[in-house]
Amino acid sequence: MITVDCKDILPLKSPLAVYTSDQVGAVPALKIREFVLDSVSDEEVDAARVIKAIKDFLDSLSIAKHFAVIQNRNLISIVAIDDYKVEPQPAQPTDQFFSCIHCGYVTQFEAVYNNHMKIHYL
Ligand SMILES: [Zn+2]
Repeated sequence: MITVDCKDILPLKSPLAVYTSDQVGAVPALKIREFVLDSVSDEEVDAARVIKAIKDFLDSLSIAKHFAVIQNRNLISIVAIDDYKVEPQPAQPTDQFFSCIHCGYVTQFEAVYNNHMKIHYL
């Protein structure tokens, strides 16, 4: 089980949890300032893959340079290294995209969207 501390990146906690859990094949549980990734199999969640997924996510938003991703055993912290403030992602619903009304997560795939919505009703 891996805990990801999101206190410096709170507006992105939900979409980051969804993206990361998808990438590493784990189940996310959202907490107030962090999320926890639990393995769906007997294998432990691979921290290196979680870090890679977090960096890919930050890269995709072009904000990777503002954050350090620091691992301490089973705790991974995303730490702001400058004064950059994360703005909530604006939801931009279009015909071919499904946009989450809770956190602005956007996907092209209805199945992914339906799966995503479950994290808000845990
Ligand atoms: Zn959402």
